[in-house]
Amino acid sequence: MEVARTPEELTDLLRNIPHEERGFVPTMGALHKGHASLISRALMDGNRVIASVFVNRLQFNNSEDFRNYPKTPEEDLKMLAQAGCTLVFMPEERDLFSGDFRLKNYDLGFLEHTMEGKFRPGHFQGVAQVVHRLLTLTLPGSAYFGEKDFQQCMVIRRLIETESLSVKMVTCPIIREQDGLAMSSRNLRLNQEERDQASFIYQTLQKCRSRFRSGDSSAAICEEEARNLEQRGLRVEYLEICNERDLVQVDAFSFGATGRRIFLAAYAGKIRLIDNLSLEDED
Ligand code: AMP
Repeated sequence: MEVARTPEELTDLLRNIPHEERGFVPTMGALHKGHASLISRALMDGNRVIASVFVNRLQFNNSEDFRNYPKTPEEDLKMLAQAGCTLVFMPEERDLFSGDFRLKNYDLGFLEHTMEGKFRPGHFQGVAQVVHRLLTLTLPGSAYFGEKDFQQCMVIRRLIETESLSVKMVTCPIIREQDGLAMSSRNLRLNQEERDQASFIYQTLQKCRSRFRSGDSSAAICEEEARNLEQRGLRVEYLEICNERDLVQVDAFSFGATGRRIFLAAYAGKIRLIDNLSLEDED
């Protein structure tokens, strides 16, 4: 596995890999099995896998969160090599944003005004800037993203469309711990009490799903289950049942309707966690 530290080194090392064989997996490091699953999928699709590890300051609306974001570069490199990556791009901020890089303003529509967009102002603009930059540098045939960040997947799909990028986007299911907690680099920062609280997130999503299926209204479910989580010590930012297509909230279960999902963001102590669950799948 080769490691590129600058855009120039990356371009040089990519020369031998045809675009259509490049499977790109962008990450912010502190890698876990969720990231590994994206790499496995990219390999299964027949790609040579290019991963990036870059903690993107532009997508942090909270500077403390940025400063404290876990960094494990040596373990990451080992994991990426074991997982079968061909090439890793691990740039410094000054190198990634040098040369012809200019900040843009992306039209992300409603995505910027609901859930993650609403509670993390500027977050998706930051994601779009860096993913656009990385896609422009790596020019992959396919790029892999996790449904853990479902709204982010929608932002990237929109970015690919509006910027006419010729890359196929592949989304992959959420990988969970044994108790159901969605794997996340931020889980490393939870103390025991917060980790115990966090395990109620998945239980709550499952409970919301069964209540929704049995006919309770979305409003009642979300209000009551958010309150239950607060009683467990979590601070809920949002709990919403929405259409996957446009993230507009749905009122109630209706037979035959598909593509609905429940979304949640909550703090365990100072650590902000997000998760989501399809209301149709049995996962
Ligand atoms: P991050 O390093 O958190 O920016 O994540 C990099 C990529 O890994 C994103 O596409 C995430 O959606 C994906 N990812 C993170 N956690 C998980 C997980 N538990 N299951 C599946 N994909 C994940």
